[in-house]
Formats: sequence, structure tokens, C-alpha cells
Amino acid sequence: MLDKEQIQELSMKFEGAQPQDAVSWALNTFGKDMAFACSFGMEDICIIDMILKVSPDARIFYLDTSLFFKETYELIRKLEDRYIVKFESVKSECPLEQQAQQYGDALWKINPDLCCSLRKVVPLKKQLSTLKAWMTGIRREQAPTRANAKPVEWDEKFNLVKVNPLVRWTSHDVLGYLLKYDIPYNPLHDKGYPSIGCEPCTFPVNPGEDARAGRWRGFEKKECGLHK
Ligand code: SF4
Repeated sequence: MLDKEQIQELSMKFEGAQPQDAVSWALNTFGKDMAFACSFGMEDICIIDMILKVSPDARIFYLDTSLFFKETYELIRKLEDRYIVKFESVKSECPLEQQAQQYGDALWKINPDLCCSLRKVVPLKKQLSTLKAWMTGIRREQAPTRANAKPVEWDEKFNLVKVNPLVRWTSHDVLGYLLKYDIPYNPLHDKGYPSIGCEPCTFPVNPGEDARAGRWRGFEKKECGLHK
């Protein structure tokens, strides 16, 4: 177990290093006790590539809300074929039909926090309860809510180490990496969707807006509840 001082030192070390260094360190340190929570955004695909170059059997999972765009499901299959892997699909214990019966057909329109809690936060919490560390693709530039993210930090909400190798990267860095290695990404990114989540809650952004401005349009909400 790392203490707070060690985590701070590691964070400072990886602040000045390449993301691949943080990825390799985390894989070597935690092995199967760490998993990458992937949402298949552009940055997450860079991390998939970095992880699988070091450890082809590393744990990579996604929170399948059953509400992704068809383009996202197609991308998942394409990446699985490219890397010859099967990403772990983590689903809510409350199927969509049950959610509709209990709360109505479109809970996301009336209470997106509850919908995200049922479909994302509760399944994530269960998944993380078996781990010592998790990795994410969050970047400081994405939104003010992420501006203070560190390369390595203690996740107070879920009680484990959180590794964010790409915190310093810009969207330009991310696209540059994908183009350099000719890695596929979601075609919706080229249609005005810099951040892609569930279909009912994801809209294109306008010029000058931050990358997550198209998520939950019309609500104050800017995060699913997975990141503080
Ligand atoms: S993003 Fe929208 S549809 Fe997806 S879980 Fe959250 S509220 Fe529900």
C-alpha cells in the first residue's frame, strides 16, 4: 500500500515524464490488481495502445450503460479485432427495462444523477472494490472539473490509487498519437462531439465551448460521478 507521501512523490515524478512511463510503472506495480476504466474517448484509446504494448493481458473494462451510440459499439469491436483482446463489459444490475418500469422511460431527462448512479457509479464502485488501483484517461484541459487532476493520486471516493497518465496532454497531443500509430477512433469526434458518452445525453459542442460542454446539455451536471 502506498502512503500519501509516496503518492505525492510519484505524482511529481510522472508530472515531468512521458505518459508511457506512468502506464508501465502502474502495470508493473499493481498487475492484475489494477484495471483501466475505458470510455473509448480518443485519450482512452491512446492508453489502450500504451497498455497493450507493455502488457497484452492487462485488465481493461468499460461501463456499458446499454445507451452508447452505435458508432461507439462499432469502435469497441474494431479495437478488439485490432488488438486481439476482449474488453470487459461491466453492466448495471438494473437492466434498462427495470429502470424504465421503476422510474419511467427516460430517467436521464428527469434525473440524470440517479441514472448515472444506477448505470455507472454503482457498477464502477463494485468493480473498484476488488482492486488496488485504477487508471483513467482524464486530462486537465477537458474541463474545469478536471483541472487539478494529478498523474497519481489517492481516490478518496473509491478508496484506491488512481493513475491518470494523460493529465498534461492536449487534444492535439492525443490526436497526434492516434494518427502516428494509425489507430481508429470514434467518427463522431469529427462531427463536433469531442466528448462522447451515452447517446441521450451527448450533444455536439459550439466553437469556444469546453470539450465536455455537450454532455447533459440543459443541466448543471458536467460529470457522471466517476471523477470528483
Ligand atoms: S450519461 Fe445519461 S443515459 Fe448515460 S447513465 Fe448518465 S444520465 Fe443515464
